[in-house]
Amino acid sequence: MSDVGKLYIVATPIGNLSDITQRALQTLTDVNVIAAEDTRHSLRLLQHYDIQTRLISLHDHNESQRAAQLIMRLQQGENIALISDAGTPLINDPGYTLVNQCRGANIDVIPVPGACAAITALCAAGLPTDRFRFEGFLPVKMQARHTVLQGLAHEGATTVFYESPRRIAQTVSDITEVLGAQRQLVLAKELTKTFETFFSGEAASCLRWLEEDANHQRGEFVLLIAGAKVATDDMPPEALLLMTRLMQDLPLKKAAAITAEHYGLKKNALYQLGLQQGQDDHA
Ligand code: SAM
Repeated sequence: MSDVGKLYIVATPIGNLSDITQRALQTLTDVNVIAAEDTRHSLRLLQHYDIQTRLISLHDHNESQRAAQLIMRLQQGENIALISDAGTPLINDPGYTLVNQCRGANIDVIPVPGACAAITALCAAGLPTDRFRFEGFLPVKMQARHTVLQGLAHEGATTVFYESPRRIAQTVSDITEVLGAQRQLVLAKELTKTFETFFSGEAASCLRWLEEDANHQRGEFVLLIAGAKVATDDMPPEALLLMTRLMQDLPLKKAAAITAEHYGLKKNALYQLGLQQGQDDHA
C-alpha cells in the first residue's frame, strides 16, 4: 500500500496571517490538491504565500459525496491537504466524515497543528486550564440553549464556547439568567487581530459592557465560563480539615472517598472541592 497518498489536516491562521507554521506552508505547497471550505476565501491565503496548489471545495453540504471522491484520489496515490476558513479543521468545521472514512480505509491522516480559537482564548484568559470543556456553539433555540446552560450549573471545569456577534449579548444574558449574574466570564474577541480584546468579569458586568457600545458586539468571539464553585457552607468544618490533611498524602480521589465515607457526604462534591482548592492554590 506504499503508493497510497496521505491526508494532511492543516491548521491555518484565525486572523493574523503570520500564524501559520513552516510545515503547514510546505505541506500546502507539496500536496496534489487542497480541500477547502470556501475556496475563494482560502485562495487569498494561498496567494499571500505564493502557493499555486489547486483548491477544491469541501463543506458541510457536500462532505459525504466529496469524501468518497477524495478517498479514491488518495487510494490512487495523491496527497491531499484539508483546510478550513480559519484555524484547525474539524474543530466546529467540516472534515470529520473524511477523516473517519480515511481511518476506516487505512489511509494515513497526518495532523499539521497550528491556530485554534478555543485554545488561543483559553491560554490567555486567566481561567483555570487544568480541565476544560469545549462546547462549540450553543443551540440557537432558546429552550435548547437554556438546557445546555443548566447542564453547566455544577460543572467545575472552565467551559469554552464559540459565539457569533449576532447572539453574543443574548447568550450572556441567558447565562446571567441560568447560571447567575455573578458567574465569572471571559469574552475573547478578535483574537490575533488588530482589535483583539479580552474582557473579564461577572456575567452582569460582561452584559453591561456588550450593551454599552455596539462596537463591543462586533467581531468574532470565544466565550469562556468559569467553573462552578462548590459551596463549602453545608460541609462540616471537620470534614474539610480531614480532606485537606488527606490530600497532602493521598491522591485527591482517595482523599475524597475516605472523607465522604467518614462523614456521609457526597464523594463527587468533595472531589470538586479538592480540585477547586488545587486551583486556588495555583492562583
Ligand atoms: N476551526 C476554527 C478553530 O480552530 O478555532 C473554528 C471555526 S468556527 C466555525 C468559527 C468560530 O470560531 C467563530 O464564530 C468564533 O466564535 C471563533 N473564532 C474564530 N476565529 C476567531 C478569532 N480570531 N477571535 C475570536 N474567535 C474566533
